[in-house]
Amino acid sequence: MNQTVHEADVLCVGGGIAGLMAAIRAAESGARVIVAEKGNALASGAGRAGNDHFQCYIPEAHGPDIKPFVQKLSSFRGQIRDRKVAQVWAETSGEIVKLWDSWGIPMKYKGEWEFAGHGFPGDKLDHLKYSGKNQKSVLHREALKRGVSIVNWVMITDLLREGDHVAGAIGLGTRDDTMMVFRAKTVILGTGFITRLYPSPINGRVANINFPMTLTGDGRIMAFRAGAELVGLDMPYKHQGPKYFARSGQATWVGVIKDAEGNPLGPFITKPNRRYGDPVLERYPALFEDVAASGKGPVYMDCTDISPEDYEYMIYFMEHEGYASFLKYMREEGIDLRKTPVEFGRYEIRINGGIYTNEKAETSLKGLYAAGDELFGGIANAAVFGWIAGENAAKSGAGRNADRADGFQSFIEERKAFIQSIKARDVGSDWREVNFALQQLMQDYAASVRSESVLTAGLTHLRRLREKARYSLIARNRWELVRSLEVLNLLDLGELVFVTALERKETRGGNIRRDYPVTNPMLDKSRLFVKNVDGKIVTEWREVKE
Ligand SMILES: Cc1cc2nc3c(=O)[nH]c(=O)nc-3n(C[C@H](O)[C@H](O)[C@H](O)COP(=O)(O)OP(=O)(O)OC[C@H]3O[C@@H](n4cnc5c(N)ncnc54)[C@H](O)[C@@H]3O)c2cc1C
Repeated sequence: MNQTVHEADVLCVGGGIAGLMAAIRAAESGARVIVAEKGNALASGAGRAGNDHFQCYIPEAHGPDIKPFVQKLSSFRGQIRDRKVAQVWAETSGEIVKLWDSWGIPMKYKGEWEFAGHGFPGDKLDHLKYSGKNQKSVLHREALKRGVSIVNWVMITDLLREGDHVAGAIGLGTRDDTMMVFRAKTVILGTGFITRLYPSPINGRVANINFPMTLTGDGRIMAFRAGAELVGLDMPYKHQGPKYFARSGQATWVGVIKDAEGNPLGPFITKPNRRYGDPVLERYPALFEDVAASGKGPVYMDCTDISPEDYEYMIYFMEHEGYASFLKYMREEGIDLRKTPVEFGRYEIRINGGIYTNEKAETSLKGLYAAGDELFGGIANAAVFGWIAGENAAKSGAGRNADRADGFQSFIEERKAFIQSIKARDVGSDWREVNFALQQLMQDYAASVRSESVLTAGLTHLRRLREKARYSLIARNRWELVRSLEVLNLLDLGELVFVTALERKETRGGNIRRDYPVTNPMLDKSRLFVKNVDGKIVTEWREVKE
């Protein structure tokens, strides 16, 4: 295997929204910046096909009182945030919106700030409708303009540590046989979401999921192995949208959620409403199960009563929200959303927790920053904290000496040997078999409905599966090799889900414990942290910072 060495002040791992925003800001702050990206940063990550909702506070649109926005940003799908994180987000988001607009990502609709979706009547709406279809190419261009060096086609596998400080990372070329060594004064992780841990809504269709299948929580697990704290991995969550079209969410729809008899299922709206969509989907976690049990399923999104203006508005934003394949299918099949209600369903289980970061995007490890879907999720979170991470990583690295001795070679050789062992094997299981086995046991033993005995059994199975995978995985080509390394990361993440789920001895949000049905009010403000201490998994409850 070849080895190349790359040096930078700031290394951004992942060229998604957070990684590119971090790179732009760090370069503006005077740092030499490398972005190391598993795919091609021009079109990679969850934001690649566009988004249409940017959660933000814009004083001239919302008025001077920032408090309701800080309050809203303090929690997300069952997770709670430190107060300062929410405050900094609210304060910075308006500036980022204006910056994006000036770079050529249209943040206004017909010349106005337009807020809609993810709210209900009477609520202060904070999701700005924007036209995000070209956002990746714009951010990519802005990064190159500032001298950022983008290294595509490298899967970063491990962080390098010098004493208590992160000093770079190593990664495997996804297209050629190269181990790349990146030395940096500070590292920012922006590797995005976790997919492929739970089964896709369509059996056997591993990539029929909302996010790209190459997002496998790599940043979280490399941070954990290096000693950084993770938080909130125990809380499951499910998204919803057109059934079997798992690449499409729900908030862009202007229609009414109804049962098969045509009765609206929520208390919020009875006619399509572009301002609110139908909030019942986000407010009623057991909706699909309850409707099925009532005998009045399936659940439909009904846009048949939509006005011509609202229809044009919805389709325009669907195109900016990455709905291209859905719209193409509807056209091909001759389905007109103005005439035909569309069946809706829930998608696979997701885990929104991740690398703990404070308001400066610092992790618990010196020299390591993280942003975006590494914790929580959402485009505004990625843009705002990518920016903040870039600024702080450049600043804190400025005083550090770049000329450090290279003490990492034995670790690099160990990693190369492990990768070679997968490549050299002729007989064994390929990544799909291991991935499906993992998904099956996550679904059977760590879905939303949980108990101590079932979780304990599942954890035992997972550890056996992981041991087998380590000495039996085969890869017939480079593509399979990268998928195999991703599956090994997922196995480690799965273990952390089990370990932390066992610690949450209560029912809360999407986490339903049959053996602990009560929601424990003493845990209302607490989060569950997990850390690797000398090879042991250690958990700790800690209160959110006010
Ligand atoms: C269809 C769709 C619609 C959405 N709509 C909205 C919306 O309207 N509003 C909203 O707030 N959110 C929306 N989201 C979510 C939003 O897109 C994400 O929250 C956001 O893109 C996260 O940015 P990120 O930089 O953290 O991750 P990503 O943009 O996913 O970037 C992660 C990057 O890291 C790279 N990477 C991964 N592993 C490695 C590795 N080991 N080494 C090197 N590189 C690696 C990936 O290839 C990728 O480029 C949507 C998501 C989808 C899928």
